[in-house]
Amino acid sequence: MIRVVVLGSSASAPSKDCFPSCFAVKYGPVLLFDCCEGAQKQMMRYKISYSRTKAIFLTHLHADHFLGVFGLVQTMNLSGRKEPLQIFGPRGTKKFFETIFSLRHLAPQFPVEARDVSTGKIFEEDLFEVRPFAVKHAGPSLGYVLEQKPYRRFDEEKARKAGIRGRLFTDIQEKGRVTAGGKTIEYDDVTYVQQGKKIVYTGDTLPCASIAGEAKDADLLVHDACFADEDKEMAAEKKHATSRQAAEAAKKAGAKKLLLTHFSNRYDDRKPLLEEARKIFPDSILAEEGLELLI
Ligand SMILES: [Zn+2]
Repeated sequence: MIRVVVLGSSASAPSKDCFPSCFAVKYGPVLLFDCCEGAQKQMMRYKISYSRTKAIFLTHLHADHFLGVFGLVQTMNLSGRKEPLQIFGPRGTKKFFETIFSLRHLAPQFPVEARDVSTGKIFEEDLFEVRPFAVKHAGPSLGYVLEQKPYRRFDEEKARKAGIRGRLFTDIQEKGRVTAGGKTIEYDDVTYVQQGKKIVYTGDTLPCASIAGEAKDADLLVHDACFADEDKEMAAEKKHATSRQAAEAAKKAGAKKLLLTHFSNRYDDRKPLLEEARKIFPDSILAEEGLELLI
């Protein structure tokens, strides 16, 4: 299972109870999607290992999305980290972080590799990969797709009929074929290809046509829902989406679940934004600090 933990759910500035946009994915290593100020403290609070964080995926270079990188790197310095940390973001990311980290007072004691990315596979582990895609916000802005690689699963009925039992499951997986009841059984004949899980994060964005394609059949779509529908003019002006627009994107994509996030602090009560989204896409939920999803 892929563990997703919301570390921050607000737009722009932190409030008494909320942090700006950021969530962690734990699937093998830890990955951060955006990095709000106080990110490392939120990770401690919600039991996400900051020391196992391998990469940070920034959607754009607005401060509410990257301020946490500096505190996190200093905490990693103090804990004696030696492993590299990768930072991905849109055009300008590499120069920005190289400039700041060249300052003596903020210099990392371990390799920090910042890269500008736009499309294609930018990060890969044995079980999954991450790809960016362009969204519509102020300046170069990205969303990210995290997709588990397809894998083979046993077709229980076929395996049983073929006489696969106990230890033979491991043997056929390791060797590709086994002999049972005098017959040779091929691994491919008793298994099928299972498509991997897909998590898509839009970052900050206006409604954007590419999202429905990128999030097609996604298990989880995490979408900017900065404003309520009644404030849609303001949303357009500030280049954000409303929760209704997020729900429309999830519906169009055929996503399984929608996590609304990046809420303006003008809404003390976020429930109306949820109700608005659920009218269009019933499987919508509100991001809140500490919310954990298993995908
Ligand atoms: Zn922004």
